[in-house]
Amino acid sequence: MHEWSIVYGILSSIKENYGDSVTYLKISIGELVQIDLEVFKFALEEVSKLLGFKNDIKYDIEIEETKFRCTACGYVWSWRDVERQIESSIQDRELAKTFLEAIHLVPSTVYAYVRCPKCGSPDFEIIEGADIKVLEVR
Ligand SMILES: [Zn+2]
Repeated sequence: MHEWSIVYGILSSIKENYGDSVTYLKISIGELVQIDLEVFKFALEEVSKLLGFKNDIKYDIEIEETKFRCTACGYVWSWRDVERQIESSIQDRELAKTFLEAIHLVPSTVYAYVRCPKCGSPDFEIIEGADIKVLEVR
Protein backbone atom coordinates (compact mmCIF):
# COMPACT_ATOMS: atom_id res chain seq x y z
CA MET A 1 0.00 0.00 0.00
CA HIS A 2 2.79 2.46 -0.78
CA GLU A 3 0.27 4.49 -2.81
CA TRP A 4 -0.81 6.17 0.43
CA SER A 5 2.67 7.24 1.46
CA ILE A 6 3.43 8.47 -2.07
CA VAL A 7 0.22 10.49 -2.14
CA TYR A 8 0.88 11.85 1.34
CA GLY A 9 4.35 12.93 0.24
CA ILE A 10 3.04 14.66 -2.88
CA LEU A 11 0.13 16.46 -1.22
CA SER A 12 2.00 17.63 1.85
CA SER A 13 4.72 19.17 -0.30
CA ILE A 14 2.04 20.76 -2.53
CA LYS A 15 0.44 22.28 0.55
CA GLU A 16 3.77 23.51 1.82
CA ASN A 17 4.70 25.13 -1.50
CA TYR A 18 1.36 26.27 -2.91
CA GLY A 19 -0.93 26.59 0.10
CA ASP A 20 -4.29 24.96 0.73
CA SER A 21 -6.31 26.56 -2.09
CA VAL A 22 -5.02 24.34 -4.87
CA THR A 23 -7.79 23.18 -7.22
CA TYR A 24 -5.94 21.24 -9.91
CA LEU A 25 -3.01 18.87 -10.16
CA LYS A 26 -1.50 17.12 -13.14
CA ILE A 27 0.53 14.09 -12.17
CA SER A 28 2.67 11.86 -14.31
CA ILE A 29 3.33 8.26 -13.31
CA GLY A 30 6.13 6.30 -14.95
CA GLU A 31 5.14 3.02 -16.61
CA LEU A 32 7.64 1.20 -14.47
CA VAL A 33 6.24 2.54 -11.21
CA GLN A 34 4.13 -0.10 -9.62
CA ILE A 35 0.96 1.74 -8.68
CA ASP A 36 -2.60 0.63 -8.26
CA LEU A 37 -4.28 3.55 -10.00
CA GLU A 38 -7.62 3.08 -8.24
CA VAL A 39 -5.96 3.06 -4.82
CA PHE A 40 -3.84 6.06 -5.87
CA LYS A 41 -6.91 8.10 -6.89
CA PHE A 42 -8.78 7.15 -3.73
CA ALA A 43 -5.76 8.11 -1.63
CA LEU A 44 -5.61 11.50 -3.38
CA GLU A 45 -9.17 12.26 -2.32
CA GLU A 46 -8.80 11.03 1.23
CA VAL A 47 -5.38 12.55 1.93
CA SER A 48 -6.38 15.94 0.52
CA LYS A 49 -9.26 16.01 3.04
CA LEU A 50 -6.94 14.88 5.80
CA LEU A 51 -4.48 17.67 5.02
CA GLY A 52 -7.25 20.27 5.02
CA PHE A 53 -7.23 21.47 1.42
CA LYS A 54 -10.08 23.95 1.01
CA ASN A 55 -11.38 22.73 -2.36
CA ASP A 56 -12.01 19.46 -4.10
CA ILE A 57 -8.89 19.05 -6.18
CA LYS A 58 -9.28 17.96 -9.80
CA TYR A 59 -6.64 15.53 -10.99
CA ASP A 60 -5.27 14.61 -14.36
CA ILE A 61 -3.05 11.57 -14.30
CA GLU A 62 -0.92 10.57 -17.23
CA ILE A 63 1.27 7.55 -17.69
CA GLU A 64 4.81 8.35 -18.78
CA GLU A 65 6.56 5.94 -21.11
CA THR A 66 9.64 4.36 -19.55
CA LYS A 67 12.87 4.93 -21.47
CA PHE A 68 16.25 3.30 -21.08
CA ARG A 69 19.68 4.47 -22.23
CA CYS A 70 22.64 2.17 -22.78
CA THR A 71 25.73 3.47 -20.96
CA ALA A 72 28.00 1.60 -23.39
CA CYS A 73 26.65 2.76 -26.78
CA GLY A 74 24.11 5.46 -25.92
CA TYR A 75 21.18 3.73 -27.60
CA VAL A 76 17.77 4.72 -26.20
CA TRP A 77 14.84 2.33 -26.10
CA SER A 78 11.43 2.09 -24.48
CA TRP A 79 9.44 -0.26 -22.31
CA ARG A 80 7.57 -1.38 -25.48
CA ASP A 81 10.88 -2.59 -26.90
CA VAL A 82 11.56 -4.50 -23.69
CA GLU A 83 8.18 -6.19 -23.96
CA ARG A 84 8.89 -7.17 -27.56
CA GLN A 85 12.39 -8.34 -26.66
CA ILE A 86 11.12 -10.56 -23.85
CA GLU A 87 8.18 -11.85 -25.87
CA SER A 88 10.40 -12.82 -28.78
CA SER A 89 13.14 -14.41 -26.66
CA ILE A 90 10.78 -16.43 -24.47
CA GLN A 91 8.61 -18.80 -26.50
CA ASP A 92 6.28 -19.65 -23.64
CA ARG A 93 3.77 -16.81 -23.56
CA GLU A 94 2.76 -17.34 -19.96
CA LEU A 95 6.39 -17.31 -18.89
CA ALA A 96 7.03 -14.11 -20.85
CA LYS A 97 4.05 -12.53 -19.13
CA THR A 98 5.39 -13.62 -15.74
CA PHE A 99 8.75 -11.98 -16.48
CA LEU A 100 7.10 -8.72 -17.49
CA GLU A 101 4.96 -8.74 -14.37
CA ALA A 102 8.02 -9.41 -12.22
CA ILE A 103 9.66 -6.30 -13.65
CA HIS A 104 6.59 -4.25 -12.86
CA LEU A 105 6.45 -5.55 -9.32
CA VAL A 106 10.13 -5.02 -8.61
CA PRO A 107 11.47 -2.50 -11.14
CA SER A 108 15.08 -3.18 -10.10
CA THR A 109 14.75 -6.68 -11.60
CA VAL A 110 14.73 -4.96 -14.98
CA TYR A 111 18.53 -5.11 -14.70
CA ALA A 112 18.39 -8.91 -14.54
CA TYR A 113 16.21 -9.32 -17.62
CA VAL A 114 16.98 -6.45 -19.95
CA ARG A 115 19.97 -5.94 -22.25
CA CYS A 116 20.68 -3.13 -24.70
CA PRO A 117 18.85 -4.15 -27.90
CA LYS A 118 21.67 -2.72 -29.99
CA CYS A 119 24.94 -3.87 -28.39
CA GLY A 120 23.73 -6.37 -25.78
CA SER A 121 25.32 -4.55 -22.84
CA PRO A 122 23.69 -5.03 -19.42
CA ASP A 123 24.80 -1.51 -18.42
CA PHE A 124 21.98 0.94 -18.91
CA GLU A 125 20.07 3.57 -17.02
CA ILE A 126 16.41 4.38 -16.77
CA ILE A 127 16.15 7.95 -18.01
CA GLU A 128 12.36 8.45 -17.99
CA GLY A 129 9.26 6.91 -16.56
CA ALA A 130 10.70 5.53 -13.36
CA ASP A 131 9.07 7.91 -10.96
CA ILE A 132 6.09 10.08 -10.15
CA LYS A 133 6.13 13.78 -11.00
CA VAL A 134 3.81 16.70 -10.48
CA LEU A 135 3.59 18.47 -13.84
CA GLU A 136 1.14 21.22 -13.11
CA VAL A 137 -0.42 22.91 -10.08
CA ARG A 138 -3.25 25.42 -10.17
ZN1 LIG B 1 24.20 -0.51 -26.18
